[in-house]
Amino acid sequence: MKTAEPPLKVLSGKGLWLELEGGQHIMDLISSWWVNLHGHSHPDIAKAIYDQSLNLEHVIFAGFTHDPAEQLSARLLPHLPDNLDHIFFSDNGSTAVEVALKMAWQYWANRGDTGRKTFIGFEGSYHGDTLGAMSAGSRSIFSQVFGKLMFDAEYVPYPSTFLNDPDVEQKEADCLRAVSNLLLKDPERYAGLIIEPLVQGAGGMRMCRPEFLQKLDRVLKDHQILLIYDEVMTGFGRTGDWFASIKSQTQPDLMCLSKGITGGFLPLSVTACNEEIYQAFYSDDPLKTLYHGHSYTANPLGCAAGLASLSLLEEDPGRFRNMHHEHLGFAHELADSPVAKNIRLCGTILAMDIVTGDEEGYLNQVSGTIKKLALERNMLLRPLGNTLYLMPPYCITSDELQRVYNGIHDILGRI
Ligand code: PMP
Repeated sequence: MKTAEPPLKVLSGKGLWLELEGGQHIMDLISSWWVNLHGHSHPDIAKAIYDQSLNLEHVIFAGFTHDPAEQLSARLLPHLPDNLDHIFFSDNGSTAVEVALKMAWQYWANRGDTGRKTFIGFEGSYHGDTLGAMSAGSRSIFSQVFGKLMFDAEYVPYPSTFLNDPDVEQKEADCLRAVSNLLLKDPERYAGLIIEPLVQGAGGMRMCRPEFLQKLDRVLKDHQILLIYDEVMTGFGRTGDWFASIKSQTQPDLMCLSKGITGGFLPLSVTACNEEIYQAFYSDDPLKTLYHGHSYTANPLGCAAGLASLSLLEEDPGRFRNMHHEHLGFAHELADSPVAKNIRLCGTILAMDIVTGDEEGYLNQVSGTIKKLALERNMLLRPLGNTLYLMPPYCITSDELQRVYNGIHDILGRI
């Protein structure tokens, strides 16, 4: 509170645009922390929530069920990798990850394999701010003070790449070797590996290739270790396909979804799992139950929003499939920039590292400068330290994108 700028008051949001107190209108180019898919206050989703709230606003989801949850599961599953058959509801991204970790851990315990207690994660990863999600994620300034509260995990390098990266294959080979070495050294020790597939979000929009995920998937299947995809950010079109798992044609055993699941209207999340994991819990023994329930699990309003958002995605997937081409044109224009390096893109996400004389990372001060320059140009940008990125809602038009690219050119010229 002492060092933060006073927050800006938002009066309303319509499509790409937010109206601030004082009358300024700004473009939300980070989809409000990556949740918004179709623009703000989309009338279809607003109406779905309203209609649902007149019928059933919420009900306990233990021993009871309801149409919105059943319909959302039924309509979501066909979009997920074929091997995922079951949906567990909760209410935010961190929790979707906690549930996946608990499922993976208990899967082995329920099978009597109690040695498998360690998770493998990636350097630079972020899976949420609750204790389990923090523990599985890479240690960072976000979690540093809680070191002793967290459980240990093993970390391997993320083969972070960018356009025209000559070293990408080497990085991938190094990473796969690091994973294999862990698994060969102590094959009975690991419960699972968790990864943000294709794009690490909070760690700095670091991107890897689908080819890497395919190789990783194979290594884990060979060693029969559970593969957990945290698609909380990458889900629902962000990577240019429905999910990173679909884009890479890989099959995680567990998958976490949240953020865009309701189009950015309400908190909701799911953890999907395969039949084999489900069967490890399907038992007469009460101790084999996954004891995990939240008050707002499968909230009907969230599910109704999720159904309306899915319909919008299904009606026009070109909106998220095609943004890549426009970003690519801009990326080529930036190729010779002395201030932007490691330019990378994945579907609707474009990122670059800004060259400054200071240490790279989240605390780099250029973030504040860019935020301010962007606001002066009616753009909401919120760099992660010296990583500048765009992740707009899919309703952005080509003209608006062009305006944003021009704005960024202008900002880069001033720093
Ligand atoms: N996983 C990833 C990949 C995320 O980007 C985030 C949020 N930024 C989370 C998990 C945590 O989600 P939430 O903030 O909804 O708890």
